Amino acid sequence: MRTRRAALSAIASSAALALSLTACGQSSDGGSEAGSGDAKDATIGISMPTKSSERWIADGANVVKNLEAKGFKTKLVFGEDEPDQQVSQIENMITQGVDALIVAAIDNKSLNNVLQQAADAKIPVISYDRLILGTKNVDYYASFDNEKVGELQGNYILEKLGLADGSKKGPFNIELFAGSNDDNNTRYFFGGAMKVLQPYIDKKQLVVKSGQTELTQVTTLRWDGATAQRRMDDILTASYKSGKVDAVLSPYDGISIGIISALKSDGYGSASKPLPVVTGQDAEVASVKSIIADEQSMTVYKDTRELAKVAANMVDAALNGKTPETNDTKTYDNGSKVVPAYLLTPVSVDKSNYQKVVVDSGYIKASDLN
Ligand code: BGC
Repeated sequence: MRTRRAALSAIASSAALALSLTACGQSSDGGSEAGSGDAKDATIGISMPTKSSERWIADGANVVKNLEAKGFKTKLVFGEDEPDQQVSQIENMITQGVDALIVAAIDNKSLNNVLQQAADAKIPVISYDRLILGTKNVDYYASFDNEKVGELQGNYILEKLGLADGSKKGPFNIELFAGSNDDNNTRYFFGGAMKVLQPYIDKKQLVVKSGQTELTQVTTLRWDGATAQRRMDDILTASYKSGKVDAVLSPYDGISIGIISALKSDGYGSASKPLPVVTGQDAEVASVKSIIADEQSMTVYKDTRELAKVAANMVDAALNGKTPETNDTKTYDNGSKVVPAYLLTPVSVDKSNYQKVVVDSGYIKASDLN
């Protein structure tokens, strides 16, 4: 219980606390010292959205590793992409008396009641990667610069088509895909990409033959690759009886793989009908292999090992009465408050730099790419 009281006071008066810590000459930089303070015996509940994608499995394992290295105990659960299941898993962890929660939401709006229970039990909550919306009861947010992810995808398309440097004028045909509509990141990824693509659509150098350009028309529930594959099939049938697709904005590697399958079934992938530029995200093994095989064009690498470290440091600080380190206190308004965030930097990866960025860094083993 002492840990929760410390957490509460840290959160309730973090500004005053930061001042007083500075005055005492103590650090308030995210509390990186291992197992410090009262929190040593604390248990941290970690709720991840799904095991259907590699990244969340790795995220879960890395968060556990970082917390255990600091002396915390952990409970890790995965929600099979079912919002109700995630709610009851979190409820169970609260009942079991966890001291802090790290949550990557499935449905960003489904957690308000359960997070009220967490607040009533004075359990600090870190929103992990995906911002939880519509509740005051989320204390900190650890993520990447999500708008930048979309910008990297959009800019890659402009460069590969020769539009960025003006060497080609188009018009080129592009189709647009976005992530799950219940994931707050979706609008940041899509917004970032459209910020760079829209001017070219306006100038008719990029043409969306399907006419589907609104976020509500292009989302992919639960980021499901098969759903994206069906939508690409439908678009090819309805809008490409003539002409060919030159680029596809895809927000996530699992979706990119689905899109590429639909394109190949339609005869793309030969010298006379090359695959379009297809973006992605997460540097999943299947997609890095696809990039090596000249199918998917790029992915956006986000070092989730670093994200796990940030989240673990946030918990450590909060439970030890310190102010977690943040680097963005403006961008992430969840509808109830602006959630103080620590944002990491995403990196564009294609065939030219995958070795250096994802293999040499140890993110993916070279042998997994054979
Ligand atoms: C994450 C992405 C991931 C997607 C699907 C998003 O919230 O930020 O990294 O590709 O979910 O799992």
